[in-house]
Amino acid sequence: MQTPTAEVIAIGDEMTSGARLDTNSQWLCQRLGELGIVVRFTTMVGDQMQDNVDVFRNACNRVDFVVSTGGLGPTADDLTRDAIALACDRPLVLSESALRHIESMFKNRQREMPPRNRVQAMFPEGALEIHNPRGTAPGVDVTATFDGRRASRIFALPGVPAEMMEMFTATVAPRIVDEIGGGRLVIKNAVIKCFGTGESDMEARLGEMISRSRFPRVGITVSAATISLRITAQGETEAVCDEMLRQTRAEILASAGEFVFGEGETFELQHALTELLVSRNQRIATIESGYGSPVCHWMSDVEPRETFVGGIVTDHVDHSAASLRARMANPDSGITGADWLLVVDGYPSLKTDDDIIANLVFTFCGQAQEHYWQAHQRLGGHPGILHSRIGKAALAFARSCLQEACKMG
Ligand code: ATP
Ligand code: MG
Repeated sequence: MQTPTAEVIAIGDEMTSGARLDTNSQWLCQRLGELGIVVRFTTMVGDQMQDNVDVFRNACNRVDFVVSTGGLGPTADDLTRDAIALACDRPLVLSESALRHIESMFKNRQREMPPRNRVQAMFPEGALEIHNPRGTAPGVDVTATFDGRRASRIFALPGVPAEMMEMFTATVAPRIVDEIGGGRLVIKNAVIKCFGTGESDMEARLGEMISRSRFPRVGITVSAATISLRITAQGETEAVCDEMLRQTRAEILASAGEFVFGEGETFELQHALTELLVSRNQRIATIESGYGSPVCHWMSDVEPRETFVGGIVTDHVDHSAASLRARMANPDSGITGADWLLVVDGYPSLKTDDDIIANLVFTFCGQAQEHYWQAHQRLGGHPGILHSRIGKAALAFARSCLQEACKMG
């Protein structure tokens, strides 16, 4: 096969009407690219039967793989399985095993299966199922043939992002690799999380590592100032993949180690800070002032919960060591028992569409004389991400202070 091609199809009126942003396509394009597949088209289509049939048929005539999301539910506006059956000229047939899976999902939730859910066990003739461990709707994997000629292989996944991602990673990616690689290749990913520099600086540091022709591939994505470096290794065995990941991880640490705070798709700075606190058996509290309190919100969501004593949200803070230490010692302050206090002063109002520059003061303080750090930072950005960026910068500051405290002993 020449370089294989793909089309990603996002299905649903909620996207074509603008009510919801199609984030599934972005994620799928990234993953397909990592597998060495060129995504030639992304298409978005509403919940109209004929439009869906046309879109699938069109895609089958121009790419090797079609990956769609949405419209696999049991309701009348969920048309995907019918549209694919029509586009491929295949009748829908009942899969007993899929039906049993759906029935068991309802049983586990102690609910009666509504009759209409039975349609979710219908598959175009000759299709394979894509197991959905979380939801009821299994995905559809069918290879379209026209006039005896092989057209595209279609993978239809549900719209719910978490289900879609899990099914793609667990089933679709290995099946694609199987088909294009000939043999059975294992795929393994690692996501390295970084904060504290911009995307272009990171790209410059990584150099050749992010080239599209390199193996294992390293993809770079940025979300509200957090940079994720996703390494995708393909090899004969898990051990071969692990070794590739280990080597690339070491290269990343060598060229951008000071910005790396952890690993894992959902690992954030609050988790990194909490890990450090847990290793010292210590607890933290926060004070945030201005028009936001994201750090309190994030920290209260991390396990173990006891590491975060609590957060104060206020419109004015006295940053002096004496005042902060007095607060930590005061049994009525709501933050007693904390070993450390992080102050984030100056979240700006976001009532504008323009970029904002914020002047911030971060303070990190413990009870010991030498445990007092302060930083003034100017941070700018779009109102949609600025508070997150400030909160993350404050967490990164707290983490570096705590690392320094560790060195002091
Ligand atoms: P369900 O069984 O839940 O109905 P489904 O396959 O029919 O699954 P949809 O009804 O299309 O999926 O979408 C379910 C949810 O996933 C909705 O909240 C929808 O907004 C969201 N969703 C659908 N497509 C996308 C997309 N392309 N990007 C982000 N979110 C999406
Ligand atoms: Mg639906």
